[in-house]
Amino acid sequence: LVTIRRYDEFASQLVRAQKQRRKSDSDSTTVGVYDILPANCMRKSHYQKTSQDGENPIAEPQMPYLRGSAIESAIARLVATTDDAFERHKRHERGGIVCYTDITQSQRIIEIKDTSAGRRLVPADIQFKGYLMQVLYYLVIAEKEEAMLVINYSSRETIWHHNDSDGKSWFYRPANAKPAGVECWHISISKDDYARELLWDQMQRRKNAFLKARQSNDVSFLPRIRVRDRKMKCSGCPFYERCMRQDGETEEARAMANDLELLDVRGFISS
Ligand code: SF4
Repeated sequence: LVTIRRYDEFASQLVRAQKQRRKSDSDSTTVGVYDILPANCMRKSHYQKTSQDGENPIAEPQMPYLRGSAIESAIARLVATTDDAFERHKRHERGGIVCYTDITQSQRIIEIKDTSAGRRLVPADIQFKGYLMQVLYYLVIAEKEEAMLVINYSSRETIWHHNDSDGKSWFYRPANAKPAGVECWHISISKDDYARELLWDQMQRRKNAFLKARQSNDVSFLPRIRVRDRKMKCSGCPFYERCMRQDGETEEARAMANDLELLDVRGFISS
């Protein structure tokens, strides 16, 4: 006799383990780099770390995390077939900011991203900018000069066409759509480049704001997502009501919401 039943408790254990993993990245004087990345929401990180179990009405989706981990493992196995020695998930800490690089070699780091977005990313794309900023933060913390950004596209290319009056988004697949697969980008920044100082200043400012918010339990020191990005990033956020209607936002925090624009400063990037 075969018995089978749905077992939600195990799924809950996985969610708790994932939450715990995220919480363990930081303490009263250090922050995990994910908490301060300009493409992420610092307020959401704060709420996630300070809310009690059960207060978060919607569990974080696990699938992107699980799929990203699986892709990263697969690519690490391929890197292992090359001659270069490497270390996985190496911990780096500098000035109270902690990061774990996917793959670290003597000369460079490799950061692996997985996306189900159908569009192919270019440097002007906001998602690409988020990836790039993360790699730059890692290079500054790990004090390395070179990185490889590996982007895995898990679906064939599709292109956004329009949103209709019901709020539905319509996409099409071009005749010559790019297949699923990986694209690699080489990123370098020399150790004496002034851009490093700009990045470091930004990281410190964000870290200090994050710690201040946590110590005072006052989220107003942290920026909301910019109005133009809210449709994409805030829809479905379990903290929306609290964030938008109850808690405030200081002027300093509001300015911090534009930190990703450092990449748009003339002369900051050359390709
Ligand atoms: S509603 Fe938007 S700005 Fe507020 S915490 Fe959620 S994602 Fe961040």
